[in-house]
Amino acid sequence: MRYDVAVIGAGPAGSFAAEKLSSLGHKTIIIDPCDKKKICAGILTAQYAREYKVDDAYVERELKGVRLSFRDVRAEITYKNSVEYSIDREAFDSFNLDEAVNSGAELRKDMVMSLEENGSSLTIRTTKENVLADYAIIASGVSDLSSLCGGAKKYAYCVQQKKNVEPDDYFEMNLMHSGYSWSAPKKNHVLTGTSSLNGYPDIPGEKGLIPLEPAKKTFSDRFLLAGDAAGFVSPFEGEGIFYARRSGEIAAEILSGAISGNNALRSYEKRWKKEFDFSTLARLALLLSNDMVLETFVCEIRDNGRFNKLVEAILTKEKKVQIKDISTLIKTLI
Ligand SMILES: Cc1cc2nc3c(=O)[nH]c(=O)nc-3n(C[C@H](O)[C@H](O)[C@H](O)COP(=O)(O)OP(=O)(O)OC[C@H]3O[C@@H](n4cnc5c(N)ncnc54)[C@H](O)[C@@H]3O)c2cc1C
Repeated sequence: MRYDVAVIGAGPAGSFAAEKLSSLGHKTIIIDPCDKKKICAGILTAQYAREYKVDDAYVERELKGVRLSFRDVRAEITYKNSVEYSIDREAFDSFNLDEAVNSGAELRKDMVMSLEENGSSLTIRTTKENVLADYAIIASGVSDLSSLCGGAKKYAYCVQQKKNVEPDDYFEMNLMHSGYSWSAPKKNHVLTGTSSLNGYPDIPGEKGLIPLEPAKKTFSDRFLLAGDAAGFVSPFEGEGIFYARRSGEIAAEILSGAISGNNALRSYEKRWKKEFDFSTLARLALLLSNDMVLETFVCEIRDNGRFNKLVEAILTKEKKVQIKDISTLIKTLI
């Protein structure tokens, strides 16, 4: 059988892409071995909750805000206009995959080894049976296949641990100049993690990678890269689930247009660049990569109400971060 689109990977990028393609009437297959645990703090951000419906099936806790610290300086931001959720990441992924299958996508539990573009179609080589499709969405996260397809190249290294301590309603971040550590409250426990730009931190736990910048090229003649495979994670605070879902949806719309002969795959880059402002977020991250600035940043959040509100707006993406917000931060911090 030949499919209109093969979606490779059933994380948020793949499942939401497959759901959209099937509901637009395209013959869609989603391929994932579905056998790996996802390493993730599981915070559905304010940006996500504002744009999309969140389901009780995977929510563990509604969050009131964030606590930030640098060494022994501590500050708290209680969200006034936004809400965030701490979720069970496995339940979230399996809920979204069920939705994709219910909307008509076929699920194949298999591992894709490579892709071959031959003129007007793609041969997708898997460990069992090859799949023929007109187009593909590479939504295989940080993986060998994504690298093979030109995906993200630079990563932050993370180690995460489950701790049986009493959770509360705030996400906590301890800032460091070349990474951060976090504590994400779940229903009955807490997930703690540490990230570093210089290799895996030497602490016990489960390892994961966060892409640091978008891939150089996110389209070919026959496939598009979405989510982590394309490097779509905020370089400021590591938010990836929203960008995975949204890029999967945009990729599905572009391919739907291509199937009807309306648009070229190259228009994908224009679309995501219009919506995702990773370069401004990267400038923010760069600004905070210095100990003195970090200390002032946390002190200002603690002591200056207007600054606290500005950081809340940036973190919750209440409004699009603008260069003038960064200028305000710079004036206050330096
Ligand atoms: C430690 C850590 C904590 C994080 N915490 C948060 C957070 O709190 N909030 C947030 O928004 N983001 C967080 N992120 C980022 C977030 O997890 C990712 O951005 C998000 O999962 C990306 O979704 P995706 O669909 O692109 O890829 P993934 O969720 O990684 O899904 C990729 C899928 O592809 C499949 N796959 C891989 N290779 C193949 C292959 N060859 N063939 C077939 N299938 C394949 C995998 O099995 C997997 O199911 C965190 C990341 C890490 C590492």
